[in-house]
Amino acid sequence: MGLSILTALLKERGLKCNDATEESARYFDVLLITLYWWKDVYSLHKFIQKAKINLQKRKPLVICGGISALNPCVIKDACHYVFIGDIEDRIDEFTAAIQGKTEWEEVPGIYDFKKQSVTLQTASKICPIVHTENRQKAVSRIEIARGCTNQCRFCVIGNYKPYVEQPFEVIKKLIHSDTQKTLGLFAPNRGGHSRFSDIEDEVVKAGKKNIACDIRLDAIPKVKHAAAITCGIEGYSERLRTAVGKAYTRSDVISNLLAAFNLPKPGGGTITSLIVYLIDGLPAVKKEDYAEWWDTIAEVNEKLTKKVTLFISRSWFTPYYLTPMQWAPCDVYRDFNAEYGRSPNNKLHAEKRYDKITIAHRGGTPYTVRRIFQILAVRGDETAAPIIKALACSRKNQRLWTDKSLYGAKNFMKALDSKGIKENTLCGEWPRKKPLPWHFIETPTIKNDLYSDWEKYKRLKEGK
Ligand code: SF4
Repeated sequence: MGLSILTALLKERGLKCNDATEESARYFDVLLITLYWWKDVYSLHKFIQKAKINLQKRKPLVICGGISALNPCVIKDACHYVFIGDIEDRIDEFTAAIQGKTEWEEVPGIYDFKKQSVTLQTASKICPIVHTENRQKAVSRIEIARGCTNQCRFCVIGNYKPYVEQPFEVIKKLIHSDTQKTLGLFAPNRGGHSRFSDIEDEVVKAGKKNIACDIRLDAIPKVKHAAAITCGIEGYSERLRTAVGKAYTRSDVISNLLAAFNLPKPGGGTITSLIVYLIDGLPAVKKEDYAEWWDTIAEVNEKLTKKVTLFISRSWFTPYYLTPMQWAPCDVYRDFNAEYGRSPNNKLHAEKRYDKITIAHRGGTPYTVRRIFQILAVRGDETAAPIIKALACSRKNQRLWTDKSLYGAKNFMKALDSKGIKENTLCGEWPRKKPLPWHFIETPTIKNDLYSDWEKYKRLKEGK
């Protein structure tokens, strides 16, 4: 979506923007590439090679942005510049640089790999842009808010992006004027919009459908109708949820999941399935945390009056940039599946204890070598960039991506060690005194002392 906003703003300023492919990319003047997931870091290296782009020629000029570009070290030699943060407030300087009227180095937020510092840019307003995606049915996506008023300790968005709302009157106009019947009214925390209920009513008045389904657990009671619900619970226990800054009590989880299963669906009936997100591998997770989770689900099961499906989407904890948990250790080797209760040898098989809830899965915590690839893309320094490139581009390395063995992962870690990337640096708790790989990013908008917030996590996980 960030790239859609950028291209819409550039087109408003008279610039010609087109989609690039591996075949056409090298004929462009400027390539703008957004990196969202950690895998996009690998995809960027692969794309530059496959598109036969010679970065030395500086045509096309390759400029990256997006959340996964917040550690520019790992994309060194795969682009010329990195834009750090949100573009809206800098669009005029950015346009002038594309037109050759100003130097790229003069654009605030541009990092050029030679500078010692760059200032993170944030948006003071949201441009009223509708982005229509042609899926099975066309969906018009409208951004209703940016940033978040919460600061979950693992979350990049909540910690550096100031909260900005699109005014209700603007959203109302966009809902009614857009020609599509299906809308996606999105925000990192859409239930936090001060006019959330009014926005929902406006969609109904316009005879349209909002397919946005992500909602904070504690905002579920505010939802009036939903085609689907997904929400992040993150920690398996009250202790872990408090530590990550999403302090839902056990009874919050129970009552809000029950409320979600009572929500009316637009076509009639009530919700019978929902997706919850959980994070495996949070620092100091214990078996007891998983046990508490399954007991919580047992209580939901007891109180339900119908059969439902609970989809569980588990991600693996990664210490992301510009968050209090950027210093946290991450466990690449631990068998979270066994602790969660999915091991085929686990006789209790936690998921099978319920008569009204069917537990299903979306994805799963990645296997060890993928965890190493992920942490390399997030926490690597400049030494990591050529290794990432080799993993992405060299055919002989492709088998590594599917190697699920612990032996393969340990060998890969040894290979990293021989290149100067130490396991303890990559996966251990980052020492306070050692600069993080993105230490040169000045962050005027971060209000909290991230490090003292990380210390709070450490105290809370001990139950203090
Ligand atoms: S995880 Fe969600 S609620 Fe928490 S800070 Fe991020 S966007 Fe906000």
